Amino acid sequence: MIDRRNFLRTLSALGISLPVMGRGSMKPNPAARKNNPVILCSRGADWGGKVLKPGWDILAKKGSLLDAVEKSANVTELDPKDTSVGYGGLPNERGVVQLDASIMYGPTHNCGSVAALEGIKTPCSVARLVMERTDHIHIVGKGAQEFAIAHGFKVENLLTEESRKLWLQWKENLSDDDDWFPPKDGNYQMERTSGTINVLALDTNGDMAGITTTSGLSWKIPGRIGDSPIIGAGLYVDNEVGAVGATGRGEELLRSCGSFYGVEQMRVGKSPQEACEAVCQRIIDINGGKDKVDFDDKMVALNKDGEVGCASILGSKGNEPEVAYWSKNGFKVLKGTYLIKS
Ligand code: ASP
Repeated sequence: MIDRRNFLRTLSALGISLPVMGRGSMKPNPAARKNNPVILCSRGADWGGKVLKPGWDILAKKGSLLDAVEKSANVTELDPKDTSVGYGGLPNERGVVQLDASIMYGPTHNCGSVAALEGIKTPCSVARLVMERTDHIHIVGKGAQEFAIAHGFKVENLLTEESRKLWLQWKENLSDDDDWFPPKDGNYQMERTSGTINVLALDTNGDMAGITTTSGLSWKIPGRIGDSPIIGAGLYVDNEVGAVGATGRGEELLRSCGSFYGVEQMRVGKSPQEACEAVCQRIIDINGGKDKVDFDDKMVALNKDGEVGCASILGSKGNEPEVAYWSKNGFKVLKGTYLIKS
């Protein structure tokens, strides 16, 4: 009997590389139907174009599906102006930026993720290496950083001046009974903000992949992990059905297995739009109905036919959730639906 590790070693000694190393074997792709390729992200026109451009350029040239989702997700990770993802992300309660990211590859049903990763600007690229170069799926904290260093990533300060000031304002305004005083003109309430980005894609072969990457909930307890790095919560991809990504309150997406639930809704015949709405409804139901819900989650979905969907729990006219996507018909932004008027 030759075990998996020896098998991979033998292949590599012979100079043979599998398309994606790690767990999972390539399955025949059941359906490359229409509209492909398509790449989407959980943003509107403001970020959508610049995020999707590198990924679309790769897909349009029939390049690597994983490169496409990674290069697109890297755009927000590397941009300090986005305070919810990667470099410049808002920190935890101690002022330390801790990043979460996951990746999933449809053809092998393989995945990788990192969580509470400090000092590395592009956590989704580290998650990809976890998928491709290890026999594990999740690596967190110090171990994730050591793994990244082993692969040549540089440890850098991820806290920008803007994020540091926002954190300090939050800390100084937390309580009137502690030793931190806000400046005289700086006494405002700091909301907990969230953000995150999902990138999902379908290539010309009809194969699918996705990434979710985030700095998570701002001012979180150190070590807190949200839905983004958890396969089935912040991201799920099934090559026979479609892909779903989530943003928003991670704890709710974790206890509903939101992205997995969304893919399963498409499996039984729902459109991506209906699947996104079904996840939001499920979260509302778990919480005991619309009156009990004061947080938001947003779902985006892409199916094998290249159809796109988007829904959130909260929203209002003019403030609908959005998904940006790029296909043969060019760059578009779809306004989704919301279930509760905020
Ligand atoms: N879902 C992310 C988390 O809970 C945050 C967000 O999407 O806004 O960490």
